[in-house]
Amino acid sequence: MSTTMLLHNAQNITYENLSRHSGEQLIDLRSDTVTCPTDEMYTAIVHAVLGDDGLDGDPTARELECVTAELLGKEAGVYLPSATMANLTAIMAQSNRQEIVLAHEDSHIFSAERGGAAITGAFYHGISGEAGAMDLMLLNAALLSNRSKLRTAIVCLESSHNSAGGTVLPLSYMKEVSDMTHRENALVHLDGARLFNAAASIGVPAVEIADYCDTVSVCLSKGLSAPMGAVLVGTKTTISKARELRRALGGNQRQVGIAAAAGLVAIQSMTERLKEDNATAALLSKELSGITPLKINVPQTNIVLIDISETGLNAIEWETLLRNKGVLARPWGNFSLRCVTHRHISPEDILKVVAVFASAMDS
Ligand SMILES: *Cc1c(COP(=O)(O)O)cnc(C)c1O
Repeated sequence: MSTTMLLHNAQNITYENLSRHSGEQLIDLRSDTVTCPTDEMYTAIVHAVLGDDGLDGDPTARELECVTAELLGKEAGVYLPSATMANLTAIMAQSNRQEIVLAHEDSHIFSAERGGAAITGAFYHGISGEAGAMDLMLLNAALLSNRSKLRTAIVCLESSHNSAGGTVLPLSYMKEVSDMTHRENALVHLDGARLFNAAASIGVPAVEIADYCDTVSVCLSKGLSAPMGAVLVGTKTTISKARELRRALGGNQRQVGIAAAAGLVAIQSMTERLKEDNATAALLSKELSGITPLKINVPQTNIVLIDISETGLNAIEWETLLRNKGVLARPWGNFSLRCVTHRHISPEDILKVVAVFASAMDS
């Protein structure tokens, strides 16, 4: 079978077809990572100009790196297999062993990726705070202890904030963090896995958020719908270190333009539509809050947290119940569910989900 034929076959494996093949129409709210590539991405993949990214470079990956860096107002960018590796290389490129990395205690970097500490050799210190924002007094106190104790090298921000329910850090808050961090000669890294959801929420270009940060990681495979990959942007010096670290971590890939081509479409033409995901999340929240005794966050972006603590069932039981009715959600702790909206979720799907919740509460 020729390469084009294989790609053609791949093109028929749409998300909708997959659900159909499994015999039912599942409404998958587990994550925006379940989004499949768009037709435009498949076309870009077929026509991508390729090279060896571990040897003399892949032109499509290079273009993606330049476009992303320019979009976010930074000197350079590096394409990585995942946002997890982008965060890890950002920390390693800008800190030394035994220095401190400060992050919100519920941030992805501190909660899901802290195993990275075993690789970076840095101390990860978690700071508490409302709605995914580290408390500024606690953050400042931690930074000031620089003068007598171990040095803080990096302060990590996350916007939108995953586990806080997609909350967006206000620009005024980011400015304060940036000022106090730089005053102590530390750097600000933004885990911007969902940066463009945050930008859509507050109605500013993403560069206005990135401006307060020295490095920014963005994930291409969440709501932006690319099949894989992330980009880290920052100064030329930092990014060239990150590129070396990527090799050390086994993150160098070869004809990676296959994936970067989809990433280019993601970054150039998929950011605007994230408004729609934020709107479907708002609809879900509004409709579900009419069902007693559910308690729902008012989402700023595309993540809806459903507090089911007063329903008499725990999160695992709810997950099973919903799954049996064709709705997939994620347990988020014992008494909450997380629902994430994305390109494959329409307002009609939301109404079906609401009906499923309502009938579950009735029975
Ligand atoms: C998903 C996510 C990541 C990790 O992204 P991968 O590309 O899956 O490694 C990092 N940070 C945040 C905030 C995320 O939501």
